[in-house]
Amino acid sequence: MAGTTGSSGPAEECDVLIIGGGPAGSTAAALLAKRGHRVVVAEKDRHPRFHIGESLLPANLPLFERLGIADEIRAIGMVKRGVQFVSPWHENISQTFAFKDAWDKTMPYAYQVRRSEFDKVLLHNAARSGAIVHEGCRVRSVVDAPADAGALVHADDGSETGRTWHARYVMDASGRDTFMGNREHMKYRNPRHNSASLYAHFRGAIRQEGEAEGDISIFWFQHG
Ligand SMILES: Cc1cc2nc3c(=O)[nH]c(=O)nc-3n(C[C@H](O)[C@H](O)[C@H](O)COP(=O)(O)OP(=O)(O)OC[C@H]3O[C@@H](n4cnc5c(N)ncnc54)[C@H](O)[C@@H]3O)c2cc1C
Repeated sequence: MAGTTGSSGPAEECDVLIIGGGPAGSTAAALLAKRGHRVVVAEKDRHPRFHIGESLLPANLPLFERLGIADEIRAIGMVKRGVQFVSPWHENISQTFAFKDAWDKTMPYAYQVRRSEFDKVLLHNAARSGAIVHEGCRVRSVVDAPADAGALVHADDGSETGRTWHARYVMDASGRDTFMGNREHMKYRNPRHNSASLYAHFRGAIRQEGEAEGDISIFWFQHG
């Protein structure tokens, strides 16, 4: 059933409207589109765009194969074979764990990637797989469609009226923006996991040598 929001004319139909074209949204979009569903991705930014979170884990590799992008990721990635933990508070100041020594030997490495490049590969793959991707398109509202028939999603794409979709399903892949969580007032602080995260980038940092050059180093401070 087609719906209207009043402000932007008739809604376009789709099976799944995905809010956000980061790794989660792009991956879901590609897999769903390959199964024949009508998928729309609304991404507020335009790729390539900066994002934090460059150090991947080995279990991503089978997923890249499944998505058909293993070669593209190999071309932009730096091989990461393990994790070095450094702690002046423990007997072994530095200890490295190699992924090849893990219980499961099928995933001996991962990659370090520039997220701008990585996310772009994933989003382009979603489009190549059949999803309709709208960049520069920020979802503003999600309301229940009449007669319990999915949802009406309105997005601002810079045009006067914006765009509206009537979607059978809506997937919130908006990352830290937590679009639906905010809308539904579902977010609360976990008192037992009171952590914070911050980042910086450095020039001229010295890498480890040889095969360890892509390893991630994790430092232990007195407080954890
Ligand atoms: C400091 C820090 C370091 C990290 N380091 C690592 C790491 O080393 N390795 C690792 O694997 N992970 C790391 N992460 C986590 C990683 O960044 C996330 O897990 C990952 O980006 C989540 O992907 P996602 O697709 O769920 O969300 P995102 O990558 O955040 O993508 C969400 C997308 O939704 C879009 N969006 C948001 N709101 C709307 C809207 N209303 N309408 C349309 N589009 C919208 C955004 O523009 C964005 O492109 C780190 C995170 C932080 C904060």
